[in-house]
Amino acid sequence: MKFNTLVYIETNNNTIEKVSKEIIAHARQCFKDNEICGVVVTDEITTILEQFKNAGLDKLFVIQNPLLKKFNVSAYCDVLSQLINDIKPSVFLMGATANGRELAPRIASKLEIGLTADCTDLQLDENSNLLATRPTYGGKMMATIISKTTPNFATVRQGAFKHKQFDVNNTEVCFYTPEMSCLNLFLSQLEVLKTEIKEPKEDWTESEIIVAGGLGLKSKENFGLIYKFSDLIGAKPAASRAAVELGWASHDIQVGQTGKSVAPKLYIALGISGALQHISGINNAQKIVAINTDNNAPIMNIADFAIQSDAVDVLNNLINKLSN
Ligand SMILES: Cc1cc2nc3c(=O)[nH]c(=O)nc-3n(C[C@H](O)[C@H](O)[C@H](O)COP(=O)(O)OP(=O)(O)OC[C@H]3O[C@@H](n4cnc5c(N)ncnc54)[C@H](O)[C@@H]3O)c2cc1C
Repeated sequence: MKFNTLVYIETNNNTIEKVSKEIIAHARQCFKDNEICGVVVTDEITTILEQFKNAGLDKLFVIQNPLLKKFNVSAYCDVLSQLINDIKPSVFLMGATANGRELAPRIASKLEIGLTADCTDLQLDENSNLLATRPTYGGKMMATIISKTTPNFATVRQGAFKHKQFDVNNTEVCFYTPEMSCLNLFLSQLEVLKTEIKEPKEDWTESEIIVAGGLGLKSKENFGLIYKFSDLIGAKPAASRAAVELGWASHDIQVGQTGKSVAPKLYIALGISGALQHISGINNAQKIVAINTDNNAPIMNIADFAIQSDAVDVLNNLINKLSN
């Protein structure tokens, strides 16, 4: 018997979000007996259709309507729930992005189904039940959750799986026209305000070298040295959650359990203690260099090179040397 997996494909400025591609690739490779379907909500499909080439989808459902150009959580919840009710997938997945985190609980509530949020692994058991794994107890344990409601519903953290292109390109495109409730379109139309914090321009998580700063840098001004130093060595900047919470860096560059998972060749951690929730995001880094004044900080134990020193001094010295 063939089961359906449906993946909500999130787009941003007509570009498919990386996490959506990662989920499709994982489902294609691991959910052997499943028909892998995607659903995209858009005002205009032709501009993004090319991106679905070799993505690994058997079927793409397109919900196209000019009113759905901008993400609107109530309207998106409504149209996606209608599709799920109609095609009855056995598994439904989406990225744990900012929009996904807003959308998923609403869909779960509307359809009265369970939701396993922020997963780092997904497998199917022999009965095609979803085994959804996610960190629990603040990252100290991994829990595998089996949902008893259908579809088995989970959101997936970006970077948990690898994106892959497939040789076959035989995706069937099906247009789906849900009923539109105008009322929903008036809800949650919030303006997105520009932040003064530097936003990453491209996908930094793929960078071979990542330079991350934490509270040990002591100030937002000092955190600026992370940007300078990374620029000089062709690396990408990142931050601990504590630094993000103080407004020194954008949440987009937070590494860890509630941020991004990264797998660079070199991860340089400056003034970061190495809490479990931070380490869970760098488990796949090949080499870790830690610079910390406290030799007993947890990060010093897991680092390949642990340097006991003042991070601000080290950054200033390196920047001076590299700039001259
Ligand atoms: C549910 C949950 C989810 C979380 N998710 C994340 C997450 O995704 N990412 C994350 O990072 N955290 C996360 N956290 C927070 C995490 O537990 C830590 O609080 C956080 O990582 C600490 O950040 P930090 O290392 O920058 O700060 P601190 O823990 O305060 O460490 C600062 C370090 O700097 C060192 N230091 C001080 N002065 C200097 C100096 N001059 N030079 C060099 N070193 C110096 C200190 O010795 C210390 O080791 C989460 C927590 C919870 C409960």
